[in-house]
Amino acid sequence: MSEQLQKKVLHIENLDCPVCAEALQSDLQKIKGVESVSVDYVTQTITLQTRDEKAVQKVIAIANRFEEVRVIDGDVVKNGGKKYFKEWFLIALSAVFFAIGVLFERYLQGRVGSVFAYAAYAIAYFSVGYPVLISTVKNVAKGRIFDENFLMTIASIGAVALGEIGEGVLVMLLYQLGELLQSIAVGSSRASVARLMDLKSEQAMLLRGEETVQVSPEEIEVGDILLVKAGEKVPVDGVLLAENALLDTKPLTGEAELKAFSAGQEVLSGCINVGNVFTIKATRKYTDSAVGRILEMVENAAENKAAPEKFITKFARYYTPIVCLAALLIGAFAPILHGYIAMGRFTFYQTSRWVQSALTFLVISCPCALIISVPLTYFSGIGACAKNGILVKGATYLDILASAKTMAFDKTGTLTKGEFSILGVYPKSCSETELLVLAATVERHSAHPIAKAFEKIQAEQTAQETMEIPGKGVKALVAKDTVFVGNAIFLEENSIFVEQMSSANTVIYVAKNGECLGAIEVGDGVRDGAKECIQELTKLGFANSVMLTGDNRIRAEEIAKETGIFAVKAGLLPDEKLQIAKQLKRNGKLVYVGDGINDAPVMVEADCAVSMGKLGSAAAIEASDLVLIADDISALPKLVRIARKTRAVVMQNIIFSIVMKLGFMLLGAFGGLPLAFAVFADVGVMLLAVCNSFRVRGMKTVNK
Ligand code: ADP
Ligand code: MG
Repeated sequence: MSEQLQKKVLHIENLDCPVCAEALQSDLQKIKGVESVSVDYVTQTITLQTRDEKAVQKVIAIANRFEEVRVIDGDVVKNGGKKYFKEWFLIALSAVFFAIGVLFERYLQGRVGSVFAYAAYAIAYFSVGYPVLISTVKNVAKGRIFDENFLMTIASIGAVALGEIGEGVLVMLLYQLGELLQSIAVGSSRASVARLMDLKSEQAMLLRGEETVQVSPEEIEVGDILLVKAGEKVPVDGVLLAENALLDTKPLTGEAELKAFSAGQEVLSGCINVGNVFTIKATRKYTDSAVGRILEMVENAAENKAAPEKFITKFARYYTPIVCLAALLIGAFAPILHGYIAMGRFTFYQTSRWVQSALTFLVISCPCALIISVPLTYFSGIGACAKNGILVKGATYLDILASAKTMAFDKTGTLTKGEFSILGVYPKSCSETELLVLAATVERHSAHPIAKAFEKIQAEQTAQETMEIPGKGVKALVAKDTVFVGNAIFLEENSIFVEQMSSANTVIYVAKNGECLGAIEVGDGVRDGAKECIQELTKLGFANSVMLTGDNRIRAEEIAKETGIFAVKAGLLPDEKLQIAKQLKRNGKLVYVGDGINDAPVMVEADCAVSMGKLGSAAAIEASDLVLIADDISALPKLVRIARKTRAVVMQNIIFSIVMKLGFMLLGAFGGLPLAFAVFADVGVMLLAVCNSFRVRGMKTVNK
């Protein structure tokens, strides 16, 4: 039992609706050794955390016994293309026998005629109804009434008891037809999203000496040499060994963009080889590679449910028992009341009419039609984001984004490219080369984008005891000399006198043993599309966007002017950024857009953090709730549009479904609705809501 806490994702099929998912989840929660478990209807997954391998086996066993659920190997991608031959066949069979039954009932006279009619009805009923009946028995045995199988069983049997045999059959037939259409609609959404996530290579070609061996991406170890043929995906992250390569980043970013690589450069998994065959050396295992991390994130997305999603499942929990109670009252008391009103005494009056109404209530009380479209819409929203190169860690973040009031941006690496180059060297008491080499020696140990500007400068010595102070700079020992490289504030704090330069670029100062040796001007340009992005966001209501930066005011104002951002806060340390984020949150929900480098605290504080993905950088993916994988800031306005549309469709669906249900209930109560029509209408509402959710799915060209 002292094993490590493990996360496991099981794929299942035939889970019918979000209510059933909840029921299964509560069953699984009771298993000993299961620390946490979540069952998701849309992605058809069970995600659990456990220290105990036996608990996993138990979960599988219990899930397999739940209604028609099956735990399967393989993932969502493979399950999108299900054809439903068997289901269609049974429905067609049932429909034919139902028609025969109706004809027999009408045109055959006498006892023999009725026997034939009943036989045809029985075939029609059981051919589609048997799974429902079996599930009913299973669930009632477990004490779970009020589930849709139970309700349909009661409603159809009730109709038969009232002598409306045809209607009883029709209830079951229509219900199953609805279920099938729903499976197809949901399955198609699932498949359309899954295709987007088709990042993973099925097979990788491992080079062993002269031979090539086919392995799965999971089997690849760091250092393995892999062959990537034309048209194939790069299986894991690695460095290019061949002279050059041409890759298409479409699977990662959604945009077909060809990029040329040369020997020694890092290539990311998921990109497609559109040039000649090449070899790479694996630098990460599959699970640490861009693809592995992205897919893990997608699988986890189901756990972060949005508020309306939680509301509607909770609503369903109370809705069903209340409507069932109403059905009971209508079936039992309405006839007596009716009798009292009509005849002036307590007696049953028009009982079968009222029982009919009660059955209609039971049919309508099934909550699935009500709630199925809600998680589906969020899922479609997440899919639409993926199509635009945006990864979302959960529906809840789409929801927050839809209602956010303020957006704050990091400067370096977010509004600017984060690709620094050296623009000027201003030594005071040493040579230019000495200044540059000293800075380069220290910057070797920094992950900050500024450090990249020094990459090409040869450094003979190595710095010791390096300490990077976020938002300030780096301190180190170089051959017993204490060296500071960073902004003016950083040096001044350490009692070093700095003669400050005024520049529209970023200036860093270099000090050795308490004396400032000079300054180096570094610069990076505004990111492509940053200006358009800010403009679009202003149109979308984010007129008060703020830029938060640790850089100096002059540089910050310059960038603000170039991008058109509304406000600037410059010279901030990471914890000052945090304080400002807290203030901004007072105006409403705050979205923070950063690059994940030294702004993690703000990312945590913001209601929703978006990061520039740097095509799958680990820091960015971990720190944020949404990742712009293509590193393309112009995806932000698209993201806001998708989030708002998703929320709008969810709200439409919730209101539409509830209003329709209430309408049917009123009609049903006053006897204006035949039972079969109630099923038909209920299925119709559900399908309309599901189709409405498709409007989110295809959102791609929303920007133009
Ligand atoms: P931003 O908020 O714009 O992303 P940071 O908070 O990362 O900027 O950094 C703020 C300032 O701190 C930089 O403009 C630079 O002057 C200084 N700085 C931070 N890290 C380093 C480093 N590794 N080398 C030199 N200067 C640094
Ligand atoms: Mg930064």
